[in-house]
Amino acid sequence: MNHKKQYFGTNGIRGVIGRDMTPQLALNIAKSVAMLLGQGSSIGIGKDTRTSGEMLLSSVKAGLLACGGNVIDFGTIPTPCLQYLVLKQKLNGGIMITASHNPPEYNGIKIIDSDGTEMDDSKIIELEHIFTNKTSSHVDWSHIGSVSSDPNGYQSYIDAIVAQFPKNCGAGITVVVDSGNGPASITTPEILKKLGATVYIINECFDGRFPGRLPEPSIEGLKKLSSKVISTNANFGVAHDGDADRAIFVDETGNFIDGNLSLGLISSYLCSKSSGNGVIVTPISTSSLIEDIAMKYNCRIEHTMVGSIYVARKMRYLIENGYNVVIGGEGNGGIIYPDHMFCRDGGMSAATMLGLVSESSKPLSTLISELPKYTMYQQKLKIKISGSKIINHLKIHFNTDKLDLRDGIRIYRNNSWALVRLSGTEPLIRIYTESKNPIEAKCIMDEIITEISKLQ
Ligand code: MG
Repeated sequence: MNHKKQYFGTNGIRGVIGRDMTPQLALNIAKSVAMLLGQGSSIGIGKDTRTSGEMLLSSVKAGLLACGGNVIDFGTIPTPCLQYLVLKQKLNGGIMITASHNPPEYNGIKIIDSDGTEMDDSKIIELEHIFTNKTSSHVDWSHIGSVSSDPNGYQSYIDAIVAQFPKNCGAGITVVVDSGNGPASITTPEILKKLGATVYIINECFDGRFPGRLPEPSIEGLKKLSSKVISTNANFGVAHDGDADRAIFVDETGNFIDGNLSLGLISSYLCSKSSGNGVIVTPISTSSLIEDIAMKYNCRIEHTMVGSIYVARKMRYLIENGYNVVIGGEGNGGIIYPDHMFCRDGGMSAATMLGLVSESSKPLSTLISELPKYTMYQQKLKIKISGSKIINHLKIHFNTDKLDLRDGIRIYRNNSWALVRLSGTEPLIRIYTESKNPIEAKCIMDEIITEISKLQ
């Protein structure tokens, strides 16, 4: 048996429709999920708004039913909404049809475990074993699973988020929501309205061609959101990626806020409400500004490998061992709130930002400008030789600096750090460097690139 994931990446399996992602693949994955969870299991399914969603959903349904799984179809919903429903309705698992932030020609599958988290590596390896060895078997006619649909199930997800905040806490605040023609059109605006905010929405219609903008909430893509924030005098704008597990914000002047900064601000808000001695869990790719914030509130950071599942599982582990985990999250707008559930939730982030802005006497742009200032550079490099050779070379080159080797190589030098990681799915490496001093951040980036270019 292989002990590494082959098909599934950090957040599920993805590909271009008709090329790598086909109805046959979805069918075989669904059959393997039904086998893994066992005959008679209840499995929730949902999809984002992609044009290929219905096609893959039909395959997934067929595969689950053929192997004796009972299907609950929640329709077009955000990923965190399916995760909540799997947990709340005590289902055995879930399958989300989504390619998250990828362009429209992609689609993919995320497998949800019974606790609402994305399935962990060991179970995914088991699933891949069933999948590659084709050991799933069809049940006979009398054991075929049942199908039910729960098209209003998402309302309980909305209510669960609203219940986390004081009644009417958003009164007097105006927010513009850009759901990017994705599934959060039916959730985030209602969450904010139920909390008392005045809400405008753009790119509202479900449309898998994404006519409003691409599913990745980039500076370029959010220009329409920025204009709408300015023209409506809104306090902030929020945009989601294609399955709304992430949220990216623009301030009241229409300025795009980097995900590290919004994570920093929300961490600061939640740490200030916490009783102290708290823990913030974040991957090693996140800005050091989170460390400064933790220190300010007598909290500490726990670093993980890059990937929300590692953050979520570390949070749960720490809580089970008596630690006060305040928040977990990544610098890409994916934030996990332990009082809500152990997965990234863009709707919850939108609501938390509403709470934060309504409690503050300062506008969002000022709150952001008061955060510690760091410069981060990020670069992707195509590689022609094996990634492990590159990492090994860097290990030797940087051997006088402090190193962390849990996910690629993280180099600490004076007040700077750098991270070089291999992509799990493509022949490329990702390089991050950060410092309070932009020149230092640039120097260490140049040094890494020079060393890598010596090898290829
Ligand atoms: Mg996503």
